[in-house]
Amino acid sequence: MTNSDYQAILDAIHRDLKPYIGQGRVADYIPELATVRPDHFGMAIVTVDGQVYRTGDADVRFSIQSISKLFACTLAFQLLGDALWQRVGREPSGTAFNSLVQLEFEAGKPRNPFINAGALVVTDVLCRRFVQAETALVDFMRRLSGEPGIGYDLRVAQSELAHAERNRAMAHFIASFGNLEMPADAVIDAYCRQCAISMSCVELARSALFLANGGVSPASGEHVLDASSAKRLSALMLTCGTYDAAGDFVYRVGLPAKSGVGGGIVAVLPGEYAVCVWSPGLDATGNSLAGVQSLEMLTTISGRSIF
Ligand code: GLU
Repeated sequence: MTNSDYQAILDAIHRDLKPYIGQGRVADYIPELATVRPDHFGMAIVTVDGQVYRTGDADVRFSIQSISKLFACTLAFQLLGDALWQRVGREPSGTAFNSLVQLEFEAGKPRNPFINAGALVVTDVLCRRFVQAETALVDFMRRLSGEPGIGYDLRVAQSELAHAERNRAMAHFIASFGNLEMPADAVIDAYCRQCAISMSCVELARSALFLANGGVSPASGEHVLDASSAKRLSALMLTCGTYDAAGDFVYRVGLPAKSGVGGGIVAVLPGEYAVCVWSPGLDATGNSLAGVQSLEMLTTISGRSIF
């Protein structure tokens, strides 16, 4: 694939995707997210050799929401290595991202780090290590993206904190099994702020690029993870990164990915690129409707996926 092909492919996707843009439902269980216009669409590809291709609203910042779970998990994996898996599993959950039911059967050990329960345990790891977990994560995102202006949106964080009953229930429930080391309310506070980080498609694609580049961030030169750990994290994205639709997503797209209810999806093609798409209208499984469609078009038109 030559580089100019990627720009032509993005242009074609944007043109052909028009009927899908604005479809789906913008997440409204966090009231501040419901204020986002549904007709945004942006997409960016950043290649391991540093080329950037973009279309539409690729430079507009949006709420990264669950995409933050990927980067928080990276930091926790850096800190604990395989010991992380004693506290959180590596299996798809088969239940909604915010479900409580499995936790009781499985004694407070969440199925994976990309559902809310698992992300809360991951955030607990960061809260234990850093004075402010969300600040550590924001700093990490600034380094990976090369953008010092990245931060979290206080209004989104407050909106989420004001409506965090389910996440609070989950954190306290996990704590009751002894799987939180820090106070549950402190973990919730950090978790809601990390979900409220605002970034653009270009910034997110650049940040995820270490996964496509053997664990090394091309932007900062930082050795984020060793190559084997980068492979393992990508494998988790493949099986658990797109809510309860991971099977269908990988059937359609064929790339490891992590989505968020803000309408973003970040995906990687190892050795080649990271891509991020944003369109706020969600499908019934909580993934960006136009986002999944556009990624399917990308791997179909380019003929390149992990398979
Ligand atoms: N902050 C959201 C929540 O905890 C994240 C959900 C998501 O993007 O999947 O409900």
